Amino acid sequence: MALFQISEPGESPEPHTRRLAVGIDLGTTNSLVATIRNAVPECLPDSDGRAMLPSAVQYAEDGEIVVGGAALKHRGDDALNTITSVKRFMGRSVADLRDESAARYQFTTPSGDGKGQLKITTRQGAISPIEVSSEILKALKRRAEETLGGELYGAVITVPAYFDDAQRQATKDAAQLAGLNVLRLLNEPTAAAVAYGLDQKAEGTFLIYDLGGGTFDVSILRLTRGVFEVLATAGDTHLGGDDFDAVLAKYAFDTWALTRALSPAGQANLSAAARAAKETLSTETSATIKVNWGCGFDSSVDVSREKFVELSQPLVDKTLSAVKRTLRDAKLKANEIDGVVLVGGATRMPHVRAALESIFGKAPLATMNPDEVVALGAAIQADQLAGNKTGDGDSHLLLDVIPLSLGMETMGGLVEKIVPRNSTIPVAKAQEFTTFKDGQTAMALHVLQGERELASDCRSLARFELRGIPPMVAGAARIRVTFQVDADGLLSVAALETTSGVRAEVTVKPSYGLGDGEIASMLQSAYASASTDMQARALAEARVDATALVQAVTQALAEDRALLNDNEAAALTSQIAFLKQLAEGSDHRAIVRATEDLNRASTDFAGRRMDKAVKKALAGKTLDQIV
Ligand code: ADP
Ligand code: MG
Repeated sequence: MALFQISEPGESPEPHTRRLAVGIDLGTTNSLVATIRNAVPECLPDSDGRAMLPSAVQYAEDGEIVVGGAALKHRGDDALNTITSVKRFMGRSVADLRDESAARYQFTTPSGDGKGQLKITTRQGAISPIEVSSEILKALKRRAEETLGGELYGAVITVPAYFDDAQRQATKDAAQLAGLNVLRLLNEPTAAAVAYGLDQKAEGTFLIYDLGGGTFDVSILRLTRGVFEVLATAGDTHLGGDDFDAVLAKYAFDTWALTRALSPAGQANLSAAARAAKETLSTETSATIKVNWGCGFDSSVDVSREKFVELSQPLVDKTLSAVKRTLRDAKLKANEIDGVVLVGGATRMPHVRAALESIFGKAPLATMNPDEVVALGAAIQADQLAGNKTGDGDSHLLLDVIPLSLGMETMGGLVEKIVPRNSTIPVAKAQEFTTFKDGQTAMALHVLQGERELASDCRSLARFELRGIPPMVAGAARIRVTFQVDADGLLSVAALETTSGVRAEVTVKPSYGLGDGEIASMLQSAYASASTDMQARALAEARVDATALVQAVTQALAEDRALLNDNEAAALTSQIAFLKQLAEGSDHRAIVRATEDLNRASTDFAGRRMDKAVKKALAGKTLDQIV
């Protein structure tokens, strides 16, 4: 397997010329920029001393574009033009959207079929998520250049581990639009591990638990001999700190016995108050949710931490099921995890930490600021990639996984999995196939993604043909099919007939437009239908074997009927007809039995044909030529 090096060799700059490089955590809720100063990674604050920039962009009147906290204030009163959580829409089409957060905006699609990347309709026109993200990136770039006093050489931008190719590409496009040189995209969990210096350890398996504002991600990373590998990822794209706010907001709403639904502005007020109370409860044992409705009218209610824990425990439990799923996927037990890393502002809640401690039997790593740790890790990587060697200048090998298996359609509409799900990328795997018919000179190849046994239940990625195979008997051609997934998740499939050297290949983007929700449902249906799939596979396999044998014996009869007496020939002919008929039905056991019978019945015939062939080959040759 080809590993790729993250440190570009031969790129070290002259001594003393440090290149300005930053790490950017482009978050759903908040974004940050960090750099290495005096050999220490640190987040760069704005002029008011705040490191976190809310990921909000308002397309205001008179053409102004407002970014950050100032934009967030208009979420209630200018909802359609104030874009938050735009990360959810990156690399997505309207057809991909299924959630309620989408309902806040009006969307258009350039191509009109709902499949192209979406745009959001604002008073300043239709804006793509890439443009919205680029505004956030521009603000961070400006902040960094002002603070550091120079032009940036480049940036490492973090993305969730599960981001597919389209989402990664969209992130790169946003950076380019913001005038940033992307040194590389880095997975968020890996960045967090780097920030904790886990990459400096010789070996270990770490679980990264990231509970942000609106999303939850959990990843298991393994470090062996300098190779950082993502073993498994899971999460929930609609679970985060916001849901904890919502639980408190509902509690207040019910306590005050409000009867009417709130206006958007009232709702925004209540959410903000609930969020403030939630954050207070991370350090205090009680807090007050206080809302000023305007016109001298306000409401308040006290909440104890105990009450909050009781109300929000189901949300914490949901994250724990995902944690357990990654453990299962990575085939690990909780006690095999060497450390749990906390990421995301919402992991400041003590009951989240306590829950993790009870599963893993040890306190999670929490010495760093959980909302800064991703940006800090990205800054460390950026510094290395810019060639500013700090420390021992280790090169890191960073690997990702593919979320769904990749395979080929084989005879009978079955799927042969070639790269199993959760394989680390980059990866190259090859498998040999052969021809099914005598004299076959072309082969159709169908590349599939999914966990199901039947091709028709998987997602079709590409079809291509290998032509020019020299005519041979069935099964003699050796067609080597190679699947290669590169570091950016791009798949190429090549087919090579090894005796003749003819080849064909195709490049596909395996995960384009596949949301993690879709991935989850594809996995779910694979588990749910495992037994029907097994039956379908058994039947299809039985049919393939039967058909191959029928063809072979029919062919042999046509060529060497003379080697049989009339009774023998009639018996074989009727067995062939019987098997052909069975193969059209769906009783796979009967097909297997009849195939075995025909196989047995024709063994003697095959022996005679062999003798004949040997005699023919030996005819006219002397003994010393034979031995
Ligand atoms: P994202 O990765 O989605 O951009 P962050 O990591 O910045 O998000 O997390 C934002 C979430 O963290 C918000 O829901 C916020 O309320 C929550 N948060 C921040 N500080 C605290 C705290 N002290 N206690 C509880 N939650 C907090
Ligand atoms: Mg985050």
